[in-house]
Amino acid sequence: MSNKILIVEDSLLQRQILIKWLTKHSYTCIIANDAQEAREIIAKESIEVVLLDWELPDGSGIDLIKEILSSSPTGWLPIIMVTSHSEPEKIKEAIEAGATDFIRKPAEEIELLARIYSALRIKFLQDQLRDTAIRDPLTGLYNRRYMEERVDQEFQRCKRHSHPLSIAMIDIDFFKSVNDTYGHDVGDVVLKLLANELKTRLRKSDILSRFGGEEFVIVFPETANIDAKHVLDKIREAITQIPIHSDDQKEFHISFSGGVTGGDLEHVAHPSELLKIADKNLYEAKHQGRNRVILS
Ligand SMILES: [Mg+2]
Repeated sequence: MSNKILIVEDSLLQRQILIKWLTKHSYTCIIANDAQEAREIIAKESIEVVLLDWELPDGSGIDLIKEILSSSPTGWLPIIMVTSHSEPEKIKEAIEAGATDFIRKPAEEIELLARIYSALRIKFLQDQLRDTAIRDPLTGLYNRRYMEERVDQEFQRCKRHSHPLSIAMIDIDFFKSVNDTYGHDVGDVVLKLLANELKTRLRKSDILSRFGGEEFVIVFPETANIDAKHVLDKIREAITQIPIHSDDQKEFHISFSGGVTGGDLEHVAHPSELLKIADKNLYEAKHQGRNRVILS
């Protein structure tokens, strides 16, 4: 997939030059004529670099920088100002406002390409850093900190639109005894196996996290609690069928217990209530003999 460059530029001639150079080097160009179009594109496309003109028909590019940085769905975005301003004060102003780099018009092909290359490299490193901050290294799932943020966001969004939202908390049964019997390496294999089964069997819109040691939290946006339970029960049954091998080739099986809650949010004031009930239901599932999902 080729890198998507957003060109925010109202001059047709300038645009044509940039598009010609960039497409020649297999970048995908997306064009915005003004600040408003740029906003709309940023919100829905996964842009990787923005080339931003200083003077736009509906405002100043400088004013757009902060907005771009706070509204990009893919996290931080490199912004290269392309402008006829050449005073050092202007460069300082752009960089302080959050621009990554600066090119003077008329741009030169080789310089433009070099600066885009550099911007993409920074973007790559920034994305890696962000990923490290929000993911659990062992399973690759989201970590607890990120999940707590997302629970809040999804809760507010679904409540605002009167859509259902369900939450599940699951916990591997007798995980301590897996570790004690077969060692921590096999324990890690079990965690990765469950993470992978959940990942492949849940929908893309479901949000999945490793919440603690052997505990996972799943958010099911736009989903009734009975449907969330149904999905989990199917995964639970599948999991118990998968043979796992210890280092000395002994075969064993695992199961998990789960607590589900949510659905209609009308009478729920805060997302922490849902986590609390899911946790209580999980406890009840353990209490009733494990390898089951309790809904309330
Ligand atoms: Mg202009």
